[in-house]
Amino acid sequence: MRAVLFRKHGGAEVLETAELPAPEPGAGEARLAVKAAALNHLDIWVRNGLGAPIPMPHIPGSDGAGVVDAVGAGVTLVKPGDEVLIAPGLSCGQCPECRAGRDSRCPSFRIVGLQTQGTYATHVVLPAENLLPLPPGMNMVQAAAAPLVFLTAYHMLFTRAGLRPGETVFVPGAASGVGSAGIQLAVVGGARVIAAAGGPEKCELARSLGAEACFDSSKKEEAAELRRLTGGRGADIVLDHVGGDHLAASVAMCARGGRVVSCGATAGPSSTLTVRALYAAEVSLLGAYMGGRWELMEVLRLFGQRRLAAVVDRTFALAEAAEAQRRMEARQNLGKLVLVT
Ligand SMILES: [Zn+2]
Repeated sequence: MRAVLFRKHGGAEVLETAELPAPEPGAGEARLAVKAAALNHLDIWVRNGLGAPIPMPHIPGSDGAGVVDAVGAGVTLVKPGDEVLIAPGLSCGQCPECRAGRDSRCPSFRIVGLQTQGTYATHVVLPAENLLPLPPGMNMVQAAAAPLVFLTAYHMLFTRAGLRPGETVFVPGAASGVGSAGIQLAVVGGARVIAAAGGPEKCELARSLGAEACFDSSKKEEAAELRRLTGGRGADIVLDHVGGDHLAASVAMCARGGRVVSCGATAGPSSTLTVRALYAAEVSLLGAYMGGRWELMEVLRLFGQRRLAAVVDRTFALAEAAEAQRRMEARQNLGKLVLVT
């Protein structure tokens, strides 16, 4: 098989295309001939070596879709020829959290491409239960682009923050993967959505996805602008996938009783919160780590009803993965970047 991998941590230049023996599926596993694999910010963190040590060489990539081309012993869920997408969370299926449907809280929870070899390849082997049928009308590029970000945004808005119809949701970084998914899901949930993004083109995208207003965060101070747009009240939910110093701003942007949901830290790993802003306005600070399989099934049901669409910036050939990652790191993309084999 062909794969894009790295042998040491570093910038996009450490990515190389290599020929490797195709992995064989073991009992309960299936092999996917990957047709499309989507990028996530996670891929950059893995490449930079910001997480726990991983065996080298490493193939990144958490999202993918393709055709089953081999199955291991005892597999009945899928068969060769099936068109499937990847559920990017791996869990034991046996522990109390898994059995309660909260598989991202499983003690052995792992993310494809983070703690395992990933999808920047022509083939990948996964447990058969991680391969889900494509919803009606969904093509391979959409099927690769959707799972991780829509699952994360669904888990943030509904499971963690408990979004209720009529609430106001603020989405910073609106043209990113989680941002563009969050706007659409908040609209499905009956929310009023206000967004912020860097530049008029990204704001136009946010409005086209259903944001009532979007302002240019490079020109306007977010907290003041959000207060203005909400008559001084602030947001019921802030979907913070930015982290860093933005987290403190997110707390300050909440209405009384508001919730900040954090799923990532592209702006930096730590934050200085104003404790008084947290307690005086009764703000809840919630962490979200991807999400469970049932939430992905809900997302796919909404895709099947054409109520959601993954925003794809552009596709690249597998061998152009470094160029695609550079585009993501330079924040030039409007939506998802997808590698096609
Ligand atoms: Zn478990």
